[in-house]
Amino acid sequence: MAATIKATCPHCGDVSLAPDEVLLELLVPSARHQGHDRYWFTCPDCSREVRKPADERIVQLLRSGGVPVRELRPHPERMPAVASPLTRDHLLAFHEQLRDDDWLAGLCDTDPH
Ligand SMILES: [Zn+2]
Repeated sequence: MAATIKATCPHCGDVSLAPDEVLLELLVPSARHQGHDRYWFTCPDCSREVRKPADERIVQLLRSGGVPVRELRPHPERMPAVASPLTRDHLLAFHEQLRDDDWLAGLCDTDPH
């Protein structure tokens, strides 16, 4: 007899699923800071897709239950926006400015001599 995965649908409450009805998505180590491992399933009662974060205990539970695992890689276009408005262009411009020996004089209104 196959293991039964117990999950909770936010609409229907506790539901039972076969292991192959659940998908476990694990973040690659380099993306750990960007999100959480998660699992998802289609609720057998309401047919809604349910996604939930999976902590270590849940990951272990699902794995031992034979749930398929997929590696989750972050999509570059979905990366969180950088808080600073500084762009690569700004940095390049600043870098160019520093290479110029007169950059300090250019910033100063008064003549030091
Ligand atoms: Zn449901």
